[in-house]
Amino acid sequence: MINIERGLAFVIFLIIFFLNTFLYSESFKILKCKFCKNKINGRYITQEKNAYHEQCYKDHIQLKCDHCKIIINGKYNLKDEKNYHPQCFRDYILEKCDVCYKPIEGEYVKDSWGNIYHNYHRSKMPLCESCNRLISKNLTDGGYLIKKRSICNICWVHVINDAKDVKNIYYKLREELMGLGLDNIPKSIPIKLIDSKEELYRISSIPSSDGLQGYTKYTYQTIGKKKVNEKFTIYILSNLHWLNFRAVLAHEMLHVYLFNNGISLKESLIEGFCNLGSKYVYDSSPENKISELKLESMFKNSNPKYGKGFRIMNSELEMKGWRLLLKNLDKY
Ligand SMILES: [Zn+2]
Ligand SMILES: [Zn+2]
Ligand SMILES: [Zn+2]
Ligand SMILES: [Zn+2]
Ligand SMILES: [Zn+2]
Repeated sequence: MINIERGLAFVIFLIIFFLNTFLYSESFKILKCKFCKNKINGRYITQEKNAYHEQCYKDHIQLKCDHCKIIINGKYNLKDEKNYHPQCFRDYILEKCDVCYKPIEGEYVKDSWGNIYHNYHRSKMPLCESCNRLISKNLTDGGYLIKKRSICNICWVHVINDAKDVKNIYYKLREELMGLGLDNIPKSIPIKLIDSKEELYRISSIPSSDGLQGYTKYTYQTIGKKKVNEKFTIYILSNLHWLNFRAVLAHEMLHVYLFNNGISLKESLIEGFCNLGSKYVYDSSPENKISELKLESMFKNSNPKYGKGFRIMNSELEMKGWRLLLKNLDKY
């Protein structure tokens, strides 16, 4: 009898032992939230084999729009590791066109003034001849057209059209150029403002090229070998921004300097030398963005005279300085 009781006790012991092992085995392990690490009772959500309290999931795991902070269901846009509803992305994250204020999704242009706009506006609106801005309501408050030339309303208040302004600018510039050593420039020269480029080409008989903004006409008669009745007339486009005007005038005044002093440079270097005058003017107004723009295009210009010739003369100037350059100008 004693053996049977012992046997029964052993069997009961075994049953309790296996039940325990079973209850604490994997399938009965207590479910914990992957986010807050607390026990889960009731409903829960699984994602990638992890379980979460419903609230923990909603608050911390589910994808939310970085703009409106609302949960994202379905498609979304990703930028800089942040997620957005497609609508929020379009309305608040994408950059807006400065011309039409609509979001920019495709190709766009960034101009030197920091404006960005859709590429396709370029074919419909002209660029301002002085500042290169796209002439449009929102960018420049419009502009105006004069003899096929486009001037924006930002530049409009700065353009030179007045004879008195022309005179003052000439006078001031002459003083400055004399300070550099460019002497023997007449105290006054007739300066005529021309509205159309075509007319300027006609006067200059220079074959049409987009860049021409000024021209100096030099006439004289000869008695024997002596020049008499020398006459200069400078023609410059009307409606140029004052800085642009000053630079063109400086270029023309360097032509006058060459004529008046009988200096004959190599043909390919004449325009390059005169462009040093324009560069001087732009260098004198470094705070103005137009200077930066114009200098950049002068250094990029592929024209053999106005571009290449200018770069040659400019490196000579940088090496020698104005006085020494002018002293040896006949050798170029
Ligand atoms: Zn939790
Ligand atoms: Zn959103
Ligand atoms: Zn646009
Ligand atoms: Zn402009
Ligand atoms: Zn010239």
